Amino acid sequence: MHFSTLLSFAALASYALACSSCGGAASRLHKREEEGGEGPAFSYLGLTGPVDWNQFDGSAACGNGKTQSPINVVSTMKISAIGDSGEYADIGATGFNFTNTGHTVEVFYKGQRATLDGVDYELQRFHFHTPSEHRLDNEWFPMEVHFVHQGVSDPTKLAVVGLFIDTNEKDVSDPMMARLATYLQSIDKPGETVVATHVPLDGVRTGITNAKKFTYPGSLTTPPCTEGVTWYVSNTILDVSVKDYKVFKKVLGYNSRTLQADPGKQNVVEFAAQFLPSVQGRTQSKKERRAAALKRFTN
Ligand SMILES: [Zn+2]
Repeated sequence: MHFSTLLSFAALASYALACSSCGGAASRLHKREEEGGEGPAFSYLGLTGPVDWNQFDGSAACGNGKTQSPINVVSTMKISAIGDSGEYADIGATGFNFTNTGHTVEVFYKGQRATLDGVDYELQRFHFHTPSEHRLDNEWFPMEVHFVHQGVSDPTKLAVVGLFIDTNEKDVSDPMMARLATYLQSIDKPGETVVATHVPLDGVRTGITNAKKFTYPGSLTTPPCTEGVTWYVSNTILDVSVKDYKVFKKVLGYNSRTLQADPGKQNVVEFAAQFLPSVQGRTQSKKERRAAALKRFTN
């Protein structure tokens, strides 16, 4: 990572409303995100990309939080207790909204119960990233799916289960991936929604309840990067065929946050900033400097 380049991008980037696509508690979500509408203006590209997210209102944690996600998951990490359970029933004929939020494609599948490490949760939704946000022993994967849960007795409790998705020698797709891929052409633009029906979730159910899951205290991986999220990263990898992968990739583009420091370590953005004395030494407020820089850039 070239820190001075990253930080000069940060100084130039523009303001925008921020919200989360990886959270779950209603109080922590932007209204449009809850409803599955158009998302905010943060992005995964230079000027409004991850190095600048701490500039968004209420998103300081993106730049100074010490338990940020995603991270490199190592197989020596703590493992979730045996006894986790979850419904993750197949989506039936009634279906659920499948929306292009502008940052991801997300199924608003609510109400499924799950017990993770003895805590009861309710599934809120699930969405996809290309490439994977987490790494496993430093290996990245073509995709990752996040199942976002909210605590039943304490709605401020958030738990996200991540499953890696990879291509495979047999070139087959997990049935969920195959089914959802058929809808993507209908939601290839931000704000578009279809009702997804008959989506099999067997692979997910197994990957969450019967698999080893690495757990760590982390955050939302989009602004406002709220901490206090319990992460479970499964070592069961879902299959996707090359054809279906390309369909997802084309719609999602690149939507993976920069890898963060291990829990408890200094934030990577904060770390980089301390080596830029020319930026630190300025007396203008950060917002003023940013506005001036942006004006220079756009003129
Ligand atoms: Zn996510």
